[in-house]
Amino acid sequence: MRYICARAPVATLNCHCLDCQRSSGAPFASGLLVRVSEMTISGTPKTYSVRASSGRLATRSFCSACGSPLFTRGETAPEVMSIRFPTLDNPSGFEPMLDIWTSSAQPWVCLSQAIPHYPQSP
Ligand SMILES: [Zn+2]
Repeated sequence: MRYICARAPVATLNCHCLDCQRSSGAPFASGLLVRVSEMTISGTPKTYSVRASSGRLATRSFCSACGSPLFTRGETAPEVMSIRFPTLDNPSGFEPMLDIWTSSAQPWVCLSQAIPHYPQSP
């Protein structure tokens, strides 16, 4: 499956919430927030919904062929979605603008002092 986003992301971030840790199998998930209206997705990813740390419903998508996490959509802001940065054609260009849900960050994760941190979602 492939996707194209017509515009630059609204934000780029690292999320340290427990649900992102579980869904990524890593200490945090890094992604790009984009407007849903700017996205063209070809192929149908598999989806599931979970109760996020915020208490709201999050719908996560992953590739049915390789299992890679792809997208997350939340019920709080249905007009935006996040894209997991490793799925970009050129992920080396990714640079996070902020860290969120640092209240549940693993104590051994080194947070960059160059970007703002938020204990929960800003
Ligand atoms: Zn998260």
